[in-house]
Parts: sequence; structure tokens; C-alpha cells
Amino acid sequence: MDYRFTDEEESFRQEIREFLRAELPAGEEQGEEQEGGSEKWEFARRFQKKLAAKGWLVPHWPKEYGGGAMGIMEQVVMREEMSYGRAPLLDIFGVNMLGPVLMLYGTDEQKKKHLPGISSAAVTWCQGYSEPQSGSDLASLQTKAVKDGDDYVINGQKIWTSNAHRADWMFLLARTDPKAPKHKGISFLLTPTDTPGFSTRPLINLAGQHGFNEVFFEDVRIPVSNLVAEENRGWYVGAALLDFERSGIGSSGASRRNLDDLVTYVKDGGRGKKEGGGSGNGAVKATVRHRLAELVIETDVGRYLSYRVASMQSKGEVPNYEASVAKGYLSELGQRVAGAGVNIMGLPGQVRPESKKWAALRGSFAMLYQVSMGMTIAGGTSEIQRNIIAQRGLGLPRG
Ligand SMILES: Cc1cc2nc3c(=O)[nH]c(=O)nc-3n(C[C@H](O)[C@H](O)[C@H](O)COP(=O)(O)OP(=O)(O)OC[C@H]3O[C@@H](n4cnc5c(N)ncnc54)[C@H](O)[C@@H]3O)c2cc1C
Repeated sequence: MDYRFTDEEESFRQEIREFLRAELPAGEEQGEEQEGGSEKWEFARRFQKKLAAKGWLVPHWPKEYGGGAMGIMEQVVMREEMSYGRAPLLDIFGVNMLGPVLMLYGTDEQKKKHLPGISSAAVTWCQGYSEPQSGSDLASLQTKAVKDGDDYVINGQKIWTSNAHRADWMFLLARTDPKAPKHKGISFLLTPTDTPGFSTRPLINLAGQHGFNEVFFEDVRIPVSNLVAEENRGWYVGAALLDFERSGIGSSGASRRNLDDLVTYVKDGGRGKKEGGGSGNGAVKATVRHRLAELVIETDVGRYLSYRVASMQSKGEVPNYEASVAKGYLSELGQRVAGAGVNIMGLPGQVRPESKKWAALRGSFAMLYQVSMGMTIAGGTSEIQRNIIAQRGLGLPRG
């Protein structure tokens, strides 16, 4: 087994780094901890369009759908570099989730209609899965879609819907057969967010940011042609999409970048030095040295877990419990890196960006610490990932 990237893949990495140096000024970097306002969003849109023009938004998609016709490993390199470089993301839901699912389950017409919009950064998507009473037990969802002639009429509510206030379209799961067993009466549907009867209400997270929303459906009417795969088979489409969501490639790059920033901070004379350690190469406390070294080991482990998922995808396999291993590990690692940062920096690490001169590393760890709480919840909680690993990976019976 050869873990190294090929020369072509490494030269692609260099090309991406040059692109980032040219197109991403330091002030425009957007890490996981940031939920940008409308100016950041507009920069992200322009930035993603430049990527799209090179076929780089989706390097491994076929050319006919606006991709770069490269391999999955180029896609991996791209995601690693983008997340390490803190490049602004616009549409993880279209690029990382819906696109791959439409290629597997969509009709030719659906692929032609939706994939070019995603690959050109012209259209953005959001994910309508969770409901007020259905999160981990997603199959208990109650939003209904009732067939009426050539349309479905949707009524119900979604919650925690990231970017619903900005997205152009939503993919959602809705109950189309209330009498069937719960997994068998669900369909996977696509709806424009400007359809009459579709509305959103903001939810503000722990860090004071507006990223997710409540979404309401009141007689939202969409054509039957917006159904993906067969009616009442949507659970399986929705579950495949979650496996793409959980691959974890982006978060391993982001964790490594946060860790590198922390190491630089300590080296440059930030907290963590021994008494009299001063700036530059002065001695660093053993506890800090060891904590940073442990986290380097863990980020390497996380990276290899995400490579396993990518390597399965490159062979045409759909990763399953392997994606849960990567997601569970990397989201918890994100929290450990954030926690180590605020601990090592002491109080300046806990000060928000607004308190400019007192905020170590521009307050990024103070924000990351709060935002990282959601990482082990979004895309299925850590407990749910462990259930999947126990059941599908280890073959243990359900609890
Ligand atoms: C930052 C963020 C972004 C999100 N974005 C979206 C989005 O765009 N679209 C969307 O649809 N959803 C989104 N979500 C919602 C997310 O998918 C749900 O929050 C998640 O699935 C958990 O559901 P819940 O919040 O209802 O918690 P619950 O399911 O009520 O769980 C509560 C607790 O019980 C535990 N638990 C539940 N069932 C079990 C079990 N069987 N075994 C062991 N423990 C269990 C859970 O692990 C958790 O600790 C987002 C969440 C976050 C944090």
C-alpha cells in the first residue's frame, strides 16, 4: 500500500496553493469558526465562481456537468488545501452531498438541470432533514408531501437548516406514505426556496451567529419531476447522502491548520513558554509540548481516516461505517484542538475578536471553541456514529 500522492497530484496541490496565494487575501480567510455576514457571502460567491471557472469546484465530476474530469484523489487534495487555506465555502450541500447523490440516483433530466448550477457556483442548496421532533431518529419525520395531480403539496416544518436563508434550493425528506413502516414511506424531493409557502426564521447559535434556521412549509407546491428516485424510497437516497456528508476530508485540513496556527503562536512567544522562555525559540513547557505533539498524531490519524473514505469512493464503493469513523473522530478532534488552544493561550484565548488587542490569534480559538460544540451534533451526533459503527461495522445487534 502506497500512502503517497502521485507527482501529478502533488503538482496539482502546488497549483492550488498558488491560486490561494493570488486569490485569497489574509483578511478574507474564513475558518470553521466564522459565519460571515453578507459581505463575506458575496466574497465567497465571487471566489467560488473563480474556482468553478477552472473546473475546480468539483474536480472529479465529468466535464459535461462542469467538473474537471480528474480523479477522486484530486478532489481530496482540493478539499484539503481549501480547508487548510481557510477558503470560504459557499455550498457544501450542493458540492459535497447533493451532486454525488444525483449522479447515483437522479434522472438524466435532473442531472442536466441541477449539476451545472452546482459546479458553476450559480445555485446554492440547503438540507431539509431535521425536524423539531426528529433529529437522530430521522425516520420519524412528519413533514408531509401529498400528491395532487402533477404536483406534490408539502406541509410541515424543518429545523437547524444551515443556510436556508441564503440557499436557492432545498433537498428534503418528506413523508409520502403515512401508513407504511417509517423508513418506507419517505421520499427525497427538491424544492426552490422561493416557492410560495416556503419561509424561514433565524436561529442564533452559541457564538451569536446566524447560520441555521427554522423552515416552514405551508402548501408548498412542487412538480412531481422534483422527486429523486422512486416515491417512498427516499430514505435510502437520504442515507447515501449522509455517507457523503460524513467523509470528513475538509475537517482534517481545518484541524491541521488550527493546530499549526497554535504551534506558531507558542513558538512566537505566546503563552505556553517556560518562565523566562521569552519569544522566538525559548523553552516551551513540557505539558504544552506534549499536548501539541499528541494533537499532531491525532490530526494525522484523522487525515488517514478520511483518505480511507476517499479511496473507497475512488473505487466506486459507497463508504458506510467508515464514513462514521471519520466523522466521529474528526469532529471530536476539532473540539480537542479548540479546547487545547483556549487552554494553552489562557484568558487571551478566550477573548472574542471584537476585543481586538486582547484577543489572541484574533479571537479565532474563542470562536472555534463555541462553534466546535456543534461539530459533534451536525451530520449525526457522535452517539449515532458509534451506533452505526457498532451495528454495521462490528455486526453487533441494535441496542
Ligand atoms: C451546526 C449544525 C448544523 C446543522 N445543519 C443542519 C442542516 O443543514 N440540515 C438539517 O437537516 N439538520 C442540521 N443540523 C441538525 C442535526 O442534524 C441534528 O441536530 C442532529 O441530527 C441531532 O438531532 P437532535 O438535535 O434532534 O438531537 P436528538 O436526536 O434529540 O439527540 C439528543 C441527544 O440524544 C442522543 N441520542 C439520540 N438518539 C440516540 C440513540 N439512539 N443512541 C444514543 N444516543 C442517542 C444524541 O446523541 C444527543 O446527544 C445541524 C446541527 C448543527 C449542530
